Amino acid sequence: MTQLTAQDIHALSRQLHAMKQSAQGEIRLANDDLRTARQAGASEVHNFSDDAETLQAQNVRVEEIEIDQTRLAEIEFAEKLIAEGRYGKCIDCGCDIALQRLTAMPTAVRCAACQTAAEQSL
Ligand SMILES: [Zn+2]
Repeated sequence: MTQLTAQDIHALSRQLHAMKQSAQGEIRLANDDLRTARQAGASEVHNFSDDAETLQAQNVRVEEIEIDQTRLAEIEFAEKLIAEGRYGKCIDCGCDIALQRLTAMPTAVRCAACQTAAEQSL
């Protein structure tokens, strides 16, 4: 197994940075939508069927924000590993994670085998 070169790390950290900006942008947009929806809901004359739909739409937004926040946390964790020089090592077995895998998923913290094992044990 070959170690990641400085160039690989650089390319992956750029990828992570772009992913982070997109996740942050989506969280901001979803939050704005949610705020607008809540303000509109508060000022409207209440109609129960509309309320149910509005609530449902707000719940979807809340779920989207949670997914984006999870993504953001994974990205920040990967960035922390880069800063600590531990990036590219599987957190379970310590082996090098294949560059191909990291390029496809820069937030990967486990090798393919350990990831499969972790998912199966859920
Ligand atoms: Zn592993």
